[in-house]
Amino acid sequence: MFNNNTVQRFKDIETPFYYYDMDMLRQTLDACRDASAKHNFHVHYAMKANFNSKVIDTIQSYGFGADCVSGNEVKAAVEHGFDKSKVVFAGVGKSDKEINLALDADIFCFNVESIQELEIINELAKAKGKTAEIAIRINPNVDAHTHHYITTGLDENKFGINTWQLHDVVDMLRKCANLQFLGIHFHIGSQITDMEVYRSLCIRINEMQDWFENHGFAIKILNTGGGLGVDYHNPDTNNIPDFESYFQVFKKFLNVKPGQEVHFELGRALVAQSASLISRVLYVKNGQKKNFLILDAGMTELMRPMLYQAYHEIENLSRGGNQESRDKKQEDSAFLSFGEGRGEALKYDVVGPICESTDCFRKDVDLPQSYRGDLIAIRTAGAYGEVMASGYNLRDHVQSVYSE
Ligand SMILES: *Cc1c(COP(=O)(O)O)cnc(C)c1O
Repeated sequence: MFNNNTVQRFKDIETPFYYYDMDMLRQTLDACRDASAKHNFHVHYAMKANFNSKVIDTIQSYGFGADCVSGNEVKAAVEHGFDKSKVVFAGVGKSDKEINLALDADIFCFNVESIQELEIINELAKAKGKTAEIAIRINPNVDAHTHHYITTGLDENKFGINTWQLHDVVDMLRKCANLQFLGIHFHIGSQITDMEVYRSLCIRINEMQDWFENHGFAIKILNTGGGLGVDYHNPDTNNIPDFESYFQVFKKFLNVKPGQEVHFELGRALVAQSASLISRVLYVKNGQKKNFLILDAGMTELMRPMLYQAYHEIENLSRGGNQESRDKKQEDSAFLSFGEGRGEALKYDVVGPICESTDCFRKDVDLPQSYRGDLIAIRTAGAYGEVMASGYNLRDHVQSVYSE
């Protein structure tokens, strides 16, 4: 991702900033589009992963739909040219204002997460003389085998409607004249890398669609949600998620009936590898037990490590990358072109400037000896990075820089 010219270019830019590799983004979108088109699958981009304008414009240009989780995301999707017949709206707490906004925008489908929400959407649609198209988000109680902070499909999670409430759901649907039932929706968690999990999900979806059909509700849409993970440990060698295998699982195990559409809502998998957070070392603190690299970026720019103990590769761009890539480069003796590369490898706790002890990107990171002013890249930061930036400590809003 970073050749010599890119690093040279960074030297003149004020840090911290997000660096977007637009070519990486397009390669990922190409791979996803090709793999999904083979099976006639429909992909909606989960906008909450990254709503940087240039990023969503690029994604929109591929013809993907948009999966939104707030009224403002619905608004942004429409403003950025996403086809309103491909905009879906999920979320466990949609406000009346947001529902009205989505009704006015004539979006494709509300993914409804409680029985009370059905009643409210019906009322608000009725007041406008409209019919709202809806899918029921079911909590399938499938364990996503991911970090428990990003698991969403277990009985104990707040999301979706649990299966034992489905009788009440169909009773309510029969009463609601301003709702049009389209199908069923699932989303069991994020950063899922075990394809077995998706096989289990398919089996649950098959059971659920049979259940609805047995109760007199035809299913047009099977929406399997998102969650496909990326390789945070190998952002250079394994930078495009295995979309082929992912869609293949659904092709193989999902029981798709004639006339049905299969929808997906990918967020992280489409954008994560296309950005890095670039920062500078402000200070190096050598302790007795620890060395600290104090960066000019912190949890206000990238919160994932602090929020859910997420792992990111960290590289010192001024000294040839991380220790591993530096060793490799030393072997083919090319790394010196990046920087001076003096000194031995050390272990650093890489921390930010924010007044919180949790403001640490990673502990005991192997890096070449590092100095004030060195450029540091925190990799795989394109998903749930810039979008979670905050103004805590009255920090400046983080800037974005693009490869083109
Ligand atoms: C967040 C979210 C997604 C996308 O999740 P990723 O892990 O980024 O793919 C999809 N659907 C819903 C309903 C979501 O809330």
